[in-house]
Amino acid sequence: MKNITAIYPGSFDPVTNGHLDLIRRGSKLFDRLIVGIARNLDKSPALFSMEERKEMLVAMTSDLENVTVDIFEGLLVNYCIEHDANAVLRGIRAVSDYEFELQMALMNRKMEPRVETVFMMPAEQYSYLSSRIVREIAKFGGPLTGLVPTMVEERVRQKIAQNQVTATHSTLL
Ligand code: ADP
Repeated sequence: MKNITAIYPGSFDPVTNGHLDLIRRGSKLFDRLIVGIARNLDKSPALFSMEERKEMLVAMTSDLENVTVDIFEGLLVNYCIEHDANAVLRGIRAVSDYEFELQMALMNRKMEPRVETVFMMPAEQYSYLSSRIVREIAKFGGPLTGLVPTMVEERVRQKIAQNQVTATHSTLL
C-alpha cells in the first residue's frame, strides 16, 4: 500500500464550509492531509492575518487525526517535496474554476512530476461558496448561516466591526 500525503493549499481567508467539506473528503482518501495556508502577496486585501486563519482552521479540524494545518511561503511544489507530499488537493466548484486550476496543475506537474494534483467536488450546496463571497456578505451585514461554522461567523463579525471602528477613526483624524 502506498502512503499518500497530500497538501491542500489556499488562502482560507476565512475558512468556509466548502473548504471544510473538501478537507473531510480528503482526510478519508489520503493517509495524511496538510492544509497549507499560502502567504500570497497578490491576494489582497486580507481580512484575517495568517495566524488567525490558522487558528480557525486548527479549531475546525481538531477532530480529524490525520489533518494538520501549516503556513507556507514560496512555490507549492517545493513545499510538497520538503514535506514528502505526493499529492495536491484542489477543489473544483464550477466550470469557471477549471481553466485556472488546469493551468496550475499542469505547471506544477512540469516543475515537479512526482507531485500529482487531485481535484474533488464539494457537496452541491457549497459549489457557489468562496471566501470572497463570505467577506462581501459580511461587510454589508448579510447572513452567513450555513456558509461558515458559527465560530468563524463570530470572528468575521468581530473583525468587520473592528475594521469599521478603525476606518471611522482614521476619517476623523
Ligand atoms: P477562495 O476561492 O474561497 O478564496 P482559496 O484560495 O482559499 O479559496 O481556495 C483553496 C482551494 O479550495 C481551491 O482549490 C478552491 O477551489 C477550493 N475551494 C474554495 N472554496 C470551495 C468550495 N466552496 N468548495 C470546494 N472547493 C473550494
